[in-house]
Amino acid sequence: PTMARSKALLVLENFIGGKFVPCSSYVDSYNPSTGDVYCRVPDSGKEEVEAAVKAAKDAFPIWSSKSPLERSQILNKLADLIEHDLEAFAQAESKDQGKTITFARTVDIPRAVHNFRFFASSILHHVTECTEMPAMGCVHYTSRAPVGVAGLISPWNLPLYLLTWKIAPAIACGNTVVAKPSEMTSVTAWMMCKLLEKAGVPPGVVNVVFGTGAKAGEALVCHPDVPLISFTGSTLTAQRITEKSAPHCKRLSLELGGKNPAIIFDDADLSQCIPTTVRSSFANQGEICLCTSRIFVQRGIYSEFLKRFVAEAKKWKTGNPSDPTTDVGALITKEHLEKVRNYVKKAQAEGARVLCGEGVDPLALPPGNQKGYFMLPTVIAEVKDESCCMQEEIFGPVTCVVAFDTEEEVIKRANGVKYGLAATVWSSNVGRVHRVAHRLQSGLVWTNCWLVRDLNLPFGGMKASGIGREGAKDSYEFFTEVKTITIKH
Ligand code: NAD
Repeated sequence: PTMARSKALLVLENFIGGKFVPCSSYVDSYNPSTGDVYCRVPDSGKEEVEAAVKAAKDAFPIWSSKSPLERSQILNKLADLIEHDLEAFAQAESKDQGKTITFARTVDIPRAVHNFRFFASSILHHVTECTEMPAMGCVHYTSRAPVGVAGLISPWNLPLYLLTWKIAPAIACGNTVVAKPSEMTSVTAWMMCKLLEKAGVPPGVVNVVFGTGAKAGEALVCHPDVPLISFTGSTLTAQRITEKSAPHCKRLSLELGGKNPAIIFDDADLSQCIPTTVRSSFANQGEICLCTSRIFVQRGIYSEFLKRFVAEAKKWKTGNPSDPTTDVGALITKEHLEKVRNYVKKAQAEGARVLCGEGVDPLALPPGNQKGYFMLPTVIAEVKDESCCMQEEIFGPVTCVVAFDTEEEVIKRANGVKYGLAATVWSSNVGRVHRVAHRLQSGLVWTNCWLVRDLNLPFGGMKASGIGREGAKDSYEFFTEVKTITIKH
């Protein structure tokens, strides 16, 4: 039976110097919608990271000397290859992460494709600065060059989407990379490695080392030949990475957690606001750093809003992620599900009201999903601002709704958390929207919409939500080193 079971398991290998390499030990990866172990992921450590960094260093001189146009063509080819296999990638992402097949098909994989196309294009359009000092007979200009081997560490919520958001700009700029996806969601990164050669990515330009954060991640962060680390994940891990990389003075880009407010004024168009705020609360099981988890509603419309919001949330169907009509899939792990449920229990113990979802409504699951990590979209009202449910990132399908009276008050309360990633403002008063957007401590503010992104513009958080920004110009600046050159005639 052991043989039969192990045969059925998918076994991943590291991708180093253009070759798949087995590892001496492995960690289990679960299918969140069934609770079964279905995949084994290399448990890489220092040795594997060392080999990958060496391969990346060796590949750097040739890759960095290619023209942006040559690199751009290769990125476009890779985008085409992923797009060609979009359905296989979407199925794999859904199985590995628990997300719905519909989300993987329409968001994750198309965005991974777009990340390569976007940076393939944007790398061709950067211009550098030039100034003149006629009296001195001097011209100054800046030149930008890739830095070297970039270490890229990504989380489990949007696996290929976020990994390619780093790989694409890093290699477009001429760096070579060692990437470490989350040990919980490694499959699509491994599938992408199979396409690199065909796309024309030379061996060693993209290396992927699978494994845990504590072993593989930390070995990468501590490696002296990796001068920059782009990390997306939790604030706690970012603190550790900062500490570990400090002795090497590494350049860090940190995209971290959020506790994102939605502020809904009494002149908001509720017919748009309600379905969008349900989506911003529960999309991808609430496992998006940009998800709304604190909803402030102006008192005059509070009870109407609650009634309509709960009715809309109840329409979201939770269950088998591979059913295209499912809206809410499985959470990433059993432990995470327990953690999210505990927040709801704590809120109840503090006297808050759970209006729908966890512990209130029945959750009927198909026979094959009984052991999966599912939870209904949950709406909690009358939570105190100082409650952990209003302060800490829950990262699950839970959102809190509270009432407010004035603009001044709500800005203060919205800013009253340690995070500052994204905020949403709903009002038909243009002046108010501008005023509030300017005063919110948040890297992104969406007004009368959510998750509408132009990749050209900076993405990132303030306060405990991160350091640095990513986007066309910002990623280019992060992944290159600038030099000022002065020429006297
Ligand atoms: P996490 O911090 O636990 O892990 C992220 C990655 O870091 C994983 O690959 C992990 O293996 C690795 N890691 C863990 N410990 C490490 C260490 N000591 N050294 C090096 N690497 C280490 O985060 P997670 O639970 O995978 O992801 C969820 C978090 O990510 C949430 O807080 C969410 O808000 C955040 N997130 C932020 C953004 C953003 O763009 N701001 C996007 C998505 C997710």
